[in-house]
Parts: sequence; structure tokens; C-alpha cells
Amino acid sequence: MLKGSCLCGDITFQTDGAPQGASMCHCSQCRKQSGGIWSSAYVAETDLTISGDVLWYEASQSAKRGSCPRCGSYLFWKAHDEDIISFALGAVDGPTGLELTKHIFVRNKGDYYTIADDVPQRD
Ligand SMILES: [Zn+2]
Repeated sequence: MLKGSCLCGDITFQTDGAPQGASMCHCSQCRKQSGGIWSSAYVAETDLTISGDVLWYEASQSAKRGSCPRCGSYLFWKAHDEDIISFALGAVDGPTGLELTKHIFVRNKGDYYTIADDVPQRD
């Protein structure tokens, strides 16, 4: 079980079950919303308990993005046609016990850094 919160603490979350698919997303939407690379893992939607009023933003027709309306922390990503939800690894309190499995949307990454690990990359 992992616990996490936004920067101001208005929103907290807790996972049941084992989070999967730890990844770093380099897409332009995640870059703009997070200010850089967004690190996340996912659980079944039924295994994520959220407390607080999340601001959901529909950045596209296929998914919504959840953030804290007070401090702006970008916490959640949810595709409309999936029953899983991604949560921000950076918002987890304490160690996650997870290991990165992939970099995604690498074709959209910023030009100011190099991905220098051996983790698989997807365009
Ligand atoms: Zn907050």
C-alpha cells in the first residue's frame, strides 16, 4: 500500500494492490502540466482511494488529468476507456518500492536533457 499527497496536503490518496507500470512520460501534455517529466504507476481504479476535491481537466477526448485546485500538484491521469488510473510517483510519501519499467512518448521529450539509463524507451 502506498500513500501520497499533493504539495499543500488538501488531496491525499492511497493505493491497494500492487502498483504496476512505473514509467516516465515525456509527452507535451505531461511536460506542460508537471513542468517536466511525469513519473507515474497505475492501479485498478477500484484500488485507489482519493480524499479531497480533485480538479479534473480534460486535456483530450480520451483522458482526464487530476490536479489539486489549491497548490496545482498534478496527481492523476485516467483514460476514459480503461479501468485503471495512474498516480504521480513524485507525490508518494516515503519509498515506493517500485522500479521504472519504461520511458514513454520519448519522441516528444525536451531537448535539454538526455535519457541516460537503460530503461526501455517508447516513441
Ligand atoms: Zn494541494
